[in-house]
Amino acid sequence: MSTDNKVAIVTGGARGIGAATAQRLARDGRAVAVLDLDEGSCEDAVKAITAEGGTALAVGADVSSPDAVQAAVERIAVELGAPTILVNNAGVTRDNLLFKMTETDWDTVMGVHLKGSFLMARAAQAHMTKAGWGRIVNLSSTSALGNRGQANYSTAKAGLQGFTKTLAIELGKFGITVNAIAPGFIATEMTKATAERIGMAWEEYQATGAKQIPVGRVGKPEDIAALVSYLTGEESGFVSGQVIYAAGGPRS
Ligand code: NAP
Repeated sequence: MSTDNKVAIVTGGARGIGAATAQRLARDGRAVAVLDLDEGSCEDAVKAITAEGGTALAVGADVSSPDAVQAAVERIAVELGAPTILVNNAGVTRDNLLFKMTETDWDTVMGVHLKGSFLMARAAQAHMTKAGWGRIVNLSSTSALGNRGQANYSTAKAGLQGFTKTLAIELGKFGITVNAIAPGFIATEMTKATAERIGMAWEEYQATGAKQIPVGRVGKPEDIAALVSYLTGEESGFVSGQVIYAAGGPRS
């Protein structure tokens, strides 16, 4: 692992997988921009990093807004240095069966996952190509393989896989790798909200999920953070355009 203090951006970094990833990358020696919708919501994640002696910056931005993304990436470049690691992790769900899904449900999910990842990658690549080095990791999902009630989310997560492969082809010559992680069930506020929506107690929801998973447990945010650490490190420079399922079993 390089000890260069490369600057990383983790979107949706205030909590869940994003917060664990931000902390992990800080332990890897990265200066981390913790970016989320509301700057104040990033404070806990930033404090967890600085308490360990790391460097972090809270940044408020909606990843689906071109102006906000541009301003955020410029601010990060000035305050932390040129960002050469980007983790497109921000996400939302608006689950519903097709006949009940609204256009707003569709547009919101596409806006955050697909447009958001596009805008962030477009803004960050300017710094990566200049540096001749970069790492982009996009958060896909096992839902990309199809999941009842998630026509919008599974479409966006499958779309991110194509986006990943195309960026890997375009950006490889600049020393930039682009990969996707497709997690299965990870215990976070997102999955907790799903349990609430279907009226199942959180503990029961996790136990039921664990029974379907070959390794016999649900995932933790740190499981994904460890893989991001590898994919953003020096040693993964020959791995690009891949979708890695991190689901306690194959699911691909
Ligand atoms: P989470 O706990 O809901 O965290 C997502 C974060 O993204 C929240 O802090 C949220 O902010 C932020 N966010 C939402 N919209 C945003 C926007 N427009 N701009 C900036 N930030 C925004 O989710 P998670 O479970 O950690 O999931 C992280 C990623 O992994 C997501 O892409 C998700 O789809 C993917 N994933 C999760 C699982 C799982 O089982 N948990 C499985 C597969 C894939 P607010 O709180 O303000 O909304």
